[in-house]
Amino acid sequence: MSSLLHRLLNASLPIVVGGDGNYLIDQNGKRYLDACGGAAVSCLGHDNARVRAALKAQIDRVAFAHTSFFTNAPAEELARFLVARAPRGTGAGRVMFLGSGSEAMEAALKLARQYHLERGETARHKIIARAPSYHGNTLGALATGGHAGRRAPFQPLLLEVSHIDAAYSYRMQKDGESDAGFAYRMANLLDERIRELGPETVMAFVAEPVVGASLGTQPPPEGYFKRIREICDEHGVLFIADEVMCGMGRTGSLFALEQEGIAADITTLAKGLGAGYQPIAAVLAAEKVIAAIQDGSGLLWNGHTYMSHAVATAGALAVQNVIEDENLLEHVRQRGEQLRKALLSRLGEHPNTGDIRGRGLFWSVELVRDRASKEPFPATARLAQNIQKTALDRGLMCYPAQGCVNGTDGDHVLLAPAYTSTPGEIDRIAELTAAAVS
Ligand code: PLP
Repeated sequence: MSSLLHRLLNASLPIVVGGDGNYLIDQNGKRYLDACGGAAVSCLGHDNARVRAALKAQIDRVAFAHTSFFTNAPAEELARFLVARAPRGTGAGRVMFLGSGSEAMEAALKLARQYHLERGETARHKIIARAPSYHGNTLGALATGGHAGRRAPFQPLLLEVSHIDAAYSYRMQKDGESDAGFAYRMANLLDERIRELGPETVMAFVAEPVVGASLGTQPPPEGYFKRIREICDEHGVLFIADEVMCGMGRTGSLFALEQEGIAADITTLAKGLGAGYQPIAAVLAAEKVIAAIQDGSGLLWNGHTYMSHAVATAGALAVQNVIEDENLLEHVRQRGEQLRKALLSRLGEHPNTGDIRGRGLFWSVELVRDRASKEPFPATARLAQNIQKTALDRGLMCYPAQGCVNGTDGDHVLLAPAYTSTPGEIDRIAELTAAAVS
């Protein structure tokens, strides 16, 4: 009998006892090929020697010193690393390190509020986000996310957030509508909503540059975020990019937003930052946000006990150095193209495949009951979870992403293999995924 509260969900999970490259091993010696990095986390597999050495060395030096007394070398170096590589506009700013994606989202929302308050814009407290979307599980992040199923039990939520439709090409692009026209139409929903709410009351717009868990790796239509940037600038609204899942190389560039040619005012990072070797997340703030604080109170109105944890930042720094030194972003692009082709060839013609979409090593298959009408399976069928279970039994880890399709849950199988995946592993992932789906 487990004493873990979350095991209420699933009483029969295997016990993990080891990691070997991109495989996890359970108590019976069974090996599982990790095709999803847990939830797009383990981008360097499970036993990277450089990361393990960096973690051990830092523990031997010092593990924890509270940030009100000390800073530490790995946190400072990791912050410099991120600031130097962030998309222009964000790159000139500063970084805060936290423990999880949800915590980073909470901190990002508070930072946006502080920015406006420091400037005397006291009425700017409203948040606009998109649906479907997922921004975390703490109450502020949950209220920001546009996932009806996860929000429902907690209504009324602590924050009032206004949601616009996400740019969900498969279901929302009209017949004959160009990609550019679709991008412009969907981005303009933000302009309309800001005007409806009153621009002087809106604090921030929040979006995942490439949507993950709620919508199955949905890249934006070209030009969408350029228009979003224009709208935010026109109305003095901050743009918060949630790169918790899609950031740190997952889509083939270090920051997903780089590929859109714009920068956010505040960016959150988590999963690929530490690759799961330690819990770590980050919030990056653009220079204009920092300047508002420096010209105002001069204090950050946010703090957590484990901020800038020395072991977590040392591990994440090693992860990022491995990705850069081993040119793994190029790997992500090449193996990602291989995965795209393999999924298309194995599942492209399947009668229940609605869409196959993604970018870099971040791919999903959306499953539908009927290809012509795009009717999803009923939520009660728990299709994505059943595929996850079937795949796990056969030694493959894939992630069930469930969105919100016209009020019912849509099913997506999400794949986010390690950046170190070999061509053979990518082929095996496509083969086992197709078998589990069938
Ligand atoms: N934001 C996005 C885009 C996510 O995908 C997630 C988690 O899946 C979160 C935030 C929350 O991160 P965490 O689970 O580390 O709190």
